[in-house]
Amino acid sequence: MIIWNCRVCGLGYDESPWGVDDRTPDFTFCECCGAEFGYNDYSPESARRHRANWLEGGASWHYPNLKPLDWRLEPQLTFIPDRYR
Ligand SMILES: [Zn+2]
Repeated sequence: MIIWNCRVCGLGYDESPWGVDDRTPDFTFCECCGAEFGYNDYSPESARRHRANWLEGGASWHYPNLKPLDWRLEPQLTFIPDRYR
């Protein structure tokens, strides 16, 4: 079950890399956009900056082997939390 969406790319996760208190990032990387949780998504500004770079670079997956065959960028972007758009 998806309980958290990447602040940069909107990818859904079944656990939060920011911890149960939403304040304890684990500094792993988003499978999709490669954002380092706790660093690249620290603030709305940093999330937007990483997103712009990622999109400009072709929106490729950080771990290409995890990319679903039917993956589409645009629907996923709609899941970015409002505060980080
Ligand atoms: Zn992401």
